[in-house]
Amino acid sequence: MQSLNRYFKSLMLTELFRGLKLTGRYFFAKKITVQYPEEKTPQSHRFRGLHALRRYPSGEERCIACKLCEAVCPALAITIEAEPRDDGSRRTTVYDIDLFKCIYCGFCEEACPVDAIVETRIYEYHFENRADSLMTKAKLLAVGDQEESRIAHDRAADAPYR
Ligand code: SF4
Ligand code: SF4
Repeated sequence: MQSLNRYFKSLMLTELFRGLKLTGRYFFAKKITVQYPEEKTPQSHRFRGLHALRRYPSGEERCIACKLCEAVCPALAITIEAEPRDDGSRRTTVYDIDLFKCIYCGFCEEACPVDAIVETRIYEYHFENRADSLMTKAKLLAVGDQEESRIAHDRAADAPYR
């Protein structure tokens, strides 16, 4: 009885018509393919892209060289060296992030007590030689300066959930 049923189904091409029905449904449905880079998908304010070091409005670096980010980084991507300044405050002399090691987990920004290291929404970047993958303190501060208004906006949007 089962084989007769199968024979009848194959004779009537029911599988074929079911397949065509599905194809037809998607053929006329709204297309969801995004034509990147001309089109872009919406981005969360929590997006974890290229890192940045932030400053206070006075221009002073936020980072206090506590090294919590370095300790928490699971990929050992952060290297920090620090020494006290003449005024007694402690600041980094070296702050490097190796982007080839980084897994963009966001632990560094979670651990930072002063919101100094953050991950920005920048994801379109490339390197032309191996050394460029090292984000030095100067590069991180430059990204922070460039992105500060958006970082501050995103932090404010996230404040109720912290
Ligand atoms: S995002 Fe994660 S892996 Fe990358 S530097 Fe921060 S803690 Fe390390
Ligand atoms: S970025 Fe934040 S967690 Fe890392 S050393 Fe500076 S203050 Fe500490």
